[in-house]
Amino acid sequence: MSITFQTSSVVGQSRTGRLVTPHAEIETPVFMPVGTVGSVKGVPQDILEELGAQIILGNTYHLYLRPGVETVRQMGGLHRFMSWDRAILTDSGGFQVFSLSELRKLNEDGVTFRSHLDGSSHYFSPESAMQAQISLGADIIMAFDECTEYPAELSRVRASMEMTARWAARSKKYFEAHKSEVPWGEVSSFESPVSCSAGPLWAGVPTQGVRQPKGLSLREDTQALFGIVQGGMDRELRRESAERTVEIGFPGYAIGGLSVGEPRALTREIVESTLEYLPKDKPRYLMGVGNPEEIVEYAGLGVDMMDCVQPTRAARHGLLFTSQGRISIKQARYAQDPEPLDPNCGCRVCQRYSRGYLRHLFASNEILAQVLNTIHNLSFYLDTMRRVRHSILLGEESRSLSGIWSQPNVRPPRIQA
Ligand SMILES: [Zn+2]
Repeated sequence: MSITFQTSSVVGQSRTGRLVTPHAEIETPVFMPVGTVGSVKGVPQDILEELGAQIILGNTYHLYLRPGVETVRQMGGLHRFMSWDRAILTDSGGFQVFSLSELRKLNEDGVTFRSHLDGSSHYFSPESAMQAQISLGADIIMAFDECTEYPAELSRVRASMEMTARWAARSKKYFEAHKSEVPWGEVSSFESPVSCSAGPLWAGVPTQGVRQPKGLSLREDTQALFGIVQGGMDRELRRESAERTVEIGFPGYAIGGLSVGEPRALTREIVESTLEYLPKDKPRYLMGVGNPEEIVEYAGLGVDMMDCVQPTRAARHGLLFTSQGRISIKQARYAQDPEPLDPNCGCRVCQRYSRGYLRHLFASNEILAQVLNTIHNLSFYLDTMRRVRHSILLGEESRSLSGIWSQPNVRPPRIQA
């Protein structure tokens, strides 16, 4: 098994669903916090669990450069390396190669690039990106694609989209031949207590007091490879890209190449039109978006999975998302404010600390400021998505953030035991 996906409730274009991966069952639509180098910056894994993160994202480009995929493979894969038992998705590395590194050469075979860390030269192809992602061992991995810049000439977008389609076929071919090489279950010297929350991994296994090597029952499971739709801001190219990617055949599909500087209305238009050409019975992942208003909007359009660095990055800069709007905690007006950051938030930060204290930590450049701010922002995103799921289950269309947060019938946020 790689993954299974079942929609449970459909309202208008939006839907809830259940995505079962080898490491965790995920309720969709889901927001995936970004853990770039095997760490969601500033937040320990046990707190991510407490916040209800079901799946996190790792960046192949960063992990490839540091600590290196071979190190992660030797450590039993990314789950065991970072001690995270729930699901992980890795990107293909393409986006970072094109956005972070100094590009040396790009051709049909692949791309030679220089590391943004030390200038050393490296090479990614669809095959080597698959090999890296198999070694990292995430539940869901992504085809190697070219993220087209914006703005770009139509002819350039078409050529790029067509190469991405050929790279998708090569990615799948390599993955199918090598998927058994995933490092799950290779290292059996580590043991962990089996818990009921481990989900489908331990289904049918007696749990009380049982200790088993992590990953033992994963041997039969495989990763799932998703295809990526490109095509820039042209609806016709997006349609063609979607059709060609679906023709190759993947268990899930992503919409890439958006949030690259285009106006928000255009992003929405492209998302909405591209979704029409993606199968309804497969998970649909919108890559790299967005702010809280946008993730509600895209879930309303029928997107099942989203990721974004915004909650974590903004938190480190003192920008906090709340049910009452954005707060820039650095402002002097909060210096003597005894209220919690967000009275409607059940996270451990809002339960314990005042705006005045958080403002003081930030102004004093304390490490704790970044930690607490990040915990709250992630909690807000994850809670927003919980509310979206809840309102779809109630049969309501969830089209706005304020609508989601003003609903009286949503169960209050809770801190899990
Ligand atoms: Zn909070």
